[in-house]
Amino acid sequence: MSKYVIGVDVGGTTVKLGLFTDAGELLDKWEIPTRTEDSGSNILPDIAKSIDDKLTEKGISKSDVEGCGLAVPGPVDEDGVVRRAVNLHWDYFNLEEKASELFGMKVKGGNDASVAALGEAWKGAASQYKSSVMVTLGTGIGGGIIINGRILTGVTGAGAEIGHIHVNDNEQTPCNCGNYGCIEQYASATGIARLARERLMENDDPSVLRSVMAVTAKDVFDGVKQGDEVSIEIAERFGKYLGDMLSQVACVVNPDAIVLGGGVSKAGDVIIDFIEKNFQKNTFHACRGAKFVIAALGNDAGIYGSAKLALG
Ligand code: ZN
Repeated sequence: MSKYVIGVDVGGTTVKLGLFTDAGELLDKWEIPTRTEDSGSNILPDIAKSIDDKLTEKGISKSDVEGCGLAVPGPVDEDGVVRRAVNLHWDYFNLEEKASELFGMKVKGGNDASVAALGEAWKGAASQYKSSVMVTLGTGIGGGIIINGRILTGVTGAGAEIGHIHVNDNEQTPCNCGNYGCIEQYASATGIARLARERLMENDDPSVLRSVMAVTAKDVFDGVKQGDEVSIEIAERFGKYLGDMLSQVACVVNPDAIVLGGGVSKAGDVIIDFIEKNFQKNTFHACRGAKFVIAALGNDAGIYGSAKLALG
């Protein structure tokens, strides 16, 4: 008889849940709101109830469920301990123990960006590759490193926090993490918008971006597609920062694929050229073979990855 597994991706506003077969076929997906009040104490009981309701609806017995994976926006260490998830108002506790007790099944927890990388490696853009690095270019930059099918977790669960790799000694504005000059300040969606504002103020060169009220990363890559010179210059700066940073990561990880995800990646293959040429220039020769691919699972990467986490 076929077995099932559940993948859960806990975000700051919604919790995404997926019911899968143990072969990775997504049978159903749904969402519930994330109730962050009272130090986020309702979040896990809400998920437990939602899972119970779904299993009842589908006529599936809990004994046929292998387990549940939980992706959370914060570091989760090898022992399943969350070390603060600010968006959920969670402090420090053993997520896996607590959730297993409430859900009545085995639970494995992981950091959301790492779990998304696992999802892409299992059923998405990197499924043909053994080891991959995923960069999620959203409001910030998330990272996930998969080595031979396993997440690189690190001692405190902060392995693959590549968004906070230092790339600029001259930065005067602090990053969200408190440091100065993190890659997230230049290559995230907000970082690209900032590069655009700075470039537009340098001189009066004509650009399609000048007619836009508040330039976004999407505007920049739309401009690139139209051949707008200023947009191309901004994209070059983005590509230089990110390509150089990824060349350093590649020299440590030696992946066979680099997955680009998050809102910025929706611009498509056009972003790859700007990153890859800098990557190729600066990466150690034996690490240069990494293929750049655009993420394929979108917002479902987290539920796929957490299902895989639960399967082990
Ligand atoms: Zn930072």
